Amino acid sequence: MASIFTKIINREIPANIVAEDDNFIAFLDINPNAKGHTLCVPKKEVNKIFDLDEETYNGLMTFSRKVALALRKTIPCERIGMSVIGLEVPHVHVHLIPLNRMADIQFKKKISLTNEEFEEVAKAISENL
Ligand code: AMP
Repeated sequence: MASIFTKIINREIPANIVAEDDNFIAFLDINPNAKGHTLCVPKKEVNKIFDLDEETYNGLMTFSRKVALALRKTIPCERIGMSVIGLEVPHVHVHLIPLNRMADIQFKKKISLTNEEFEEVAKAISENL
C-alpha cells in the first residue's frame, strides 16, 4: 500500500508543499515541533534512510540543504536542526526544524497552527528558495 507521503506526492491528499523537483518533495509537517517544521522526502518509496541507493541519499541531502537555507531565511531562529526518525511513517524523510532551544528538537513539544498560518509559512519558505 502506498505510504501517506506517496499519496501527498501523487496529490491524493493535501499538504503544504514548499519545494519539489523530479526526485524529491518538501512539505510542512502536519504536527510541527516549531513553525516551519518541514519534511524532505524522496519520491522513491523506501522505508529506511540507509537503504537508499547512494545517489538518492546524496540527492536527498542536497535537496534538504537547499530547503534548510530557505527555511533559515524565512523563520528567525538560532539554527535549523535536522533529524531522521521514521518510526511513524515508513517512507524516508528528513525533518528540518527551526531551533532556539534543545526542547525544539524533541518530539514532545508541539505547536498549533491555523490553516492560514500553514499556507502563509509554506509560501514564505518557497519564495526564499
Ligand atoms: P517519524 O516517522 O517518526 O519521523 O514521524 C513522521 C512525521 O510525519 C511526524 O512528525 C508527523 O507529524 C508527520 N506527518 C504524518 N502525516 C503527515 C501528513 N499527512 N502531512 C504532513 N506531515 C505528516
